[in-house]
Amino acid sequence: MAKYIFDFDDVLFFNTEKFKKHMYQCFEEIGVSYDTVKKYYKIEKEKGWVLQNLVESVLDGENIKITTKEDLSEKIMRVCKEYTNTDLINRIKKLNREDCYMVTHGVKEYQLEKIQRTGVGSLFNQIFIVQDTKKDPVEMICEKFRDEEVIFVDDKEKRFADLNFEKYPNLRKVLYVDNESINKIFNE
Ligand SMILES: [Mg+2]
Repeated sequence: MAKYIFDFDDVLFFNTEKFKKHMYQCFEEIGVSYDTVKKYYKIEKEKGWVLQNLVESVLDGENIKITTKEDLSEKIMRVCKEYTNTDLINRIKKLNREDCYMVTHGVKEYQLEKIQRTGVGSLFNQIFIVQDTKKDPVEMICEKFRDEEVIFVDDKEKRFADLNFEKYPNLRKVLYVDNESINKIFNE
């Protein structure tokens, strides 16, 4: 038996590849260029990135009246469901819910909204949302299941940097690169 820990953005959910592109496209449609949005994005990222705040700053800052913050946010967010990693999710559906955990990084309310809209939440025993390192929840799971292999899947190498692999020899990391990585997770 094994336990699985999955990251959300760019693992379960195509955040960079699809969602962000869709977001910039929605701004283009109301006349705001990629470079302009990027400027606001950098400022918002410092504060803890939440889509609704970005939409508000762009609309206010660029003095745009043709849409509202609510309408534009909804237009961007409603595609979440379509941007899930279905290949990976179908594989997770074959596992026991008790064996699956999610550890995601970001602003809690915003991450929860994305998870809720994608509908994948019910596949996981527990969902942890962290603001900095993932060390605590990952090592807590390793501690709890000392006799089982714990497979931690993330697309960012830096998320593995502070994990104690010596203390937890049951921990195995898998860097998620693309859907070829699914074979590595399940040793296929
Ligand atoms: Mg990620």
